[in-house]
Amino acid sequence: MYGKIKRLIPNVIIKRNEKLLRTLISIVYIGNKYQCNICHFKMSNFIKLENNNKLCPKCGSLGRTRRLWSLLENEIQGKKILHFSPSKSIKTKIESYSNSKYITSDYAGEFDAMKKLNIESIDEPKDEFDLVICYHILEHVENDIKAMKELQRIIKPKGMCIIQTPFKTGDIYENNAVKTDEERLIHFGQKDHLRIYSAEGLMKRMESVGFQTRLKEYNEVENNLNGYNIDEKLIIAEKSVTNN
Ligand SMILES: [Zn+2]
Repeated sequence: MYGKIKRLIPNVIIKRNEKLLRTLISIVYIGNKYQCNICHFKMSNFIKLENNNKLCPKCGSLGRTRRLWSLLENEIQGKKILHFSPSKSIKTKIESYSNSKYITSDYAGEFDAMKKLNIESIDEPKDEFDLVICYHILEHVENDIKAMKELQRIIKPKGMCIIQTPFKTGDIYENNAVKTDEERLIHFGQKDHLRIYSAEGLMKRMESVGFQTRLKEYNEVENNLNGYNIDEKLIIAEKSVTNN
């Protein structure tokens, strides 16, 4: 039903009236079985998207965004944060913490953000951020090693970067022969993806530019309270005190 409604209403109207539309749609979902940990809406069900993602009817958060928030909740007080391509639900939430300095950036013009930073050449000073959120970014970046070096430069010593991309097992898959949108869709799963990382491969690359990394892996039961993804991985990359 959700998809059908979305297809019937022009995008510009959805964007302009998003809050009102979400409030209206969420009325149908009011209940006591599940709860969004970002907006605290209690519901009978999440909206199930075609790719198995669970959308909060009230704030529009996805499972991975709710997981990210569960990690950030006790981390962001007083921190200087840079967030690449922030989804609206979590951006609104972080902005409500007035003692944090929060900078948002979107390069492709898909998200509402303050700046348009190129991750391969970030227009920010050295040792500037305590925390950088880099979710579903690096698989779009041409020179990812350059981007990782830039992340290493702008993060403060002891600061960290939280990273997620789609992951496969084994090695990173890259292929120079893949050039067109159609080929990228077939090889990398999306027409604007340039590779498929494995978590281990991505960690090694982050380590090659000086980060210390650790993998966080989650396994949840089906129909868990907060609608988290059942299998999920993310990488914490920390900048050690001695590295520059
Ligand atoms: Zn929500």
